[in-house]
Amino acid sequence: MIRKLLIQNGTILLKNKLVPADVLIADGKIVRIAPGLKPDRATETIDAKNLVVLPGFIDLHCHLRDPGQTHKENIASGGLSAAAGGFTSICCMPNTEPCVDCAPMVSYIVQKAREESPVRVYPIGAITKGRKGGELAELGLMREAGAVAASDDGCSVMNAGLMRTALEYAASAGLFLISHCEDKNLAGDGAVNEGYNASVAGLKPIPRAAEEVMVAREILLAETLNTRVHIAHVSTKGSVQLLREAKRRGVRVTAETCPHYFALTDDMILTYDTDYKINPPLREEADRQAVIAGLADGTIDAIATDHAPHDPDAKRVEFDTAAFGTVGFETAFAAGYTYLVKSGLMTLGRLSELMSARPAAILGFEKTGAVKAGFAADLALVNLNAFWNVEPARLLSKSKNTVFKGMELTGKVKYTVVGGLVAYENVR
Ligand SMILES: [Zn+2]
Repeated sequence: MIRKLLIQNGTILLKNKLVPADVLIADGKIVRIAPGLKPDRATETIDAKNLVVLPGFIDLHCHLRDPGQTHKENIASGGLSAAAGGFTSICCMPNTEPCVDCAPMVSYIVQKAREESPVRVYPIGAITKGRKGGELAELGLMREAGAVAASDDGCSVMNAGLMRTALEYAASAGLFLISHCEDKNLAGDGAVNEGYNASVAGLKPIPRAAEEVMVAREILLAETLNTRVHIAHVSTKGSVQLLREAKRRGVRVTAETCPHYFALTDDMILTYDTDYKINPPLREEADRQAVIAGLADGTIDAIATDHAPHDPDAKRVEFDTAAFGTVGFETAFAAGYTYLVKSGLMTLGRLSELMSARPAAILGFEKTGAVKAGFAADLALVNLNAFWNVEPARLLSKSKNTVFKGMELTGKVKYTVVGGLVAYENVR
């Protein structure tokens, strides 16, 4: 029997206008979009009154901590947290223990996600064995096992010659590389953005150049080879400028940023609260503005979460030794809606592209990332009028280290549908 679901009384985005429409789903795909559709007896229904039906969000960058640090997160809890944030597909970074640097590790993630995650999970393999920067990992075999990209996230591949070889090899293996841009010699053991606040707080600085020299290098390598490269978590004004110029020249570079870089600045570190310790670090207002301009004009292609769960023991230590990162799935859409759309900086349509259609295109996924007949029924049903206060204890992630704690955001995910099945319903 064909499983059917009808989403009634909602609205969809059509040419940047919200228009009333019902969405009929059969066998995991959207089959019809029109107002006033009637269910037959075998069709399940969702009442989407006051809800906007958006394409499910696709996250290019998250950490699920499985295997190795499952007290922080695992595939089941991370998948649930993602579903609660309206994500229907997530790509997880390989910096687990052991590292995802070979085909059996990729298979482990694929298999476990199939059994435990309410959302689709796509592993990213390491570029180098053990993410040590010395020897290339088995990119082709990982691709065959289901990896969608390769990255040594958490580190840059410091050897430019090896990175060049990796870019060539990845292209022939049908993968693209995601570069965590951080020159480790420049970053040293820094903890926060180099600038006035770091001096006031007396915390060890990370200069913007630590990011920017690597962004420049990746652009030059991709340009030389005429191959693709994707830049992770862009945080500085200089990186945005480098990307804008590169794209103008036709370099095949794409980039993502994360909600904390368009919502917050390093003023937060003056609290000495280690939840605000992020890598790359929160920057200054001029950087935040440049990131927003980059998102608006297409210099930055996508919003990713860099969901990085940490247990209290990793964060409740002095700033210099605390772990880097913030959780991000459950606040990403609301942060985007609050800081970018409600504030008038971009349309809901543009935000939706940045969170769904563009990541789908970067990944080469077809027939997903839009609410269209024939596309996968991967959807986020959101209430744009819901105000909510971010209470860490109520997050579904195993970890509660969020930079948005105590803040009031607008926009709440009510239902998440993956392949025509309800993966999450907010009943709170
Ligand atoms: Zn990273």
